Amino acid sequence: MGRYLGPVCKLCRREKQKLFLKGQKCMSPSCPVDRRPYPPGEHGRGRAKDSEYMLQLREKQKARRIYGVFEKQFRNYYQSASQAKGVTGDNLLRMLELRLDNVVFRSGFAESRSQARQLVRHGHFTVNGRKVTIPSYSLKMGDEVALREKSKESIVVRHSIETLGERLVPAWLEVDNDARKFRVLRAPERSQIEIPVEEQLIVELYSK
Ligand code: SF4
Repeated sequence: MGRYLGPVCKLCRREKQKLFLKGQKCMSPSCPVDRRPYPPGEHGRGRAKDSEYMLQLREKQKARRIYGVFEKQFRNYYQSASQAKGVTGDNLLRMLELRLDNVVFRSGFAESRSQARQLVRHGHFTVNGRKVTIPSYSLKMGDEVALREKSKESIVVRHSIETLGERLVPAWLEVDNDARKFRVLRAPERSQIEIPVEEQLIVELYSK
């Protein structure tokens, strides 16, 4: 199945909460979730209570949508997370959080994860001095990500940094806005990953 190309705000409405997929618009009064806080479609408002399975499925879909990951990729993350040491749910979120596109977003160099994904694909970033164009590239502790020389004056990046506003750069990242680069100080703890997902429900769904 290909990438979803429809209106992304519908994805938030389906999950009945803000997934922050559109940058500045998400903070504005025109956010559709604020105006119509119920699922889209004819039966959006009259939907019956969700079953246990539906709750688990919705958490998984929510996480996939937030990080912009395909179903197969997501399942691969889960497999790796379940085989790694530690709590599977924490491992899963940490792996998703350390994707290059997500970290570019978290650093404030892009307004949304989809914009970050596009910047990475277009070759604007280096990791430890080497150009990387793979949004899912997994960063490690100590990795340094920088805008390439010719991209340093990018209007998109400058605008994003200037309008970072309420979004805080997490403590596991060290950002140098002037030099247009950032470093991963450490892998994030679960408490440092601010996403509205109950990962335990995802683990329950996949471990059936
Ligand atoms: Fe659209 Fe952002 Fe609101 Fe989601 S949070 S509905 S992406 S404006």
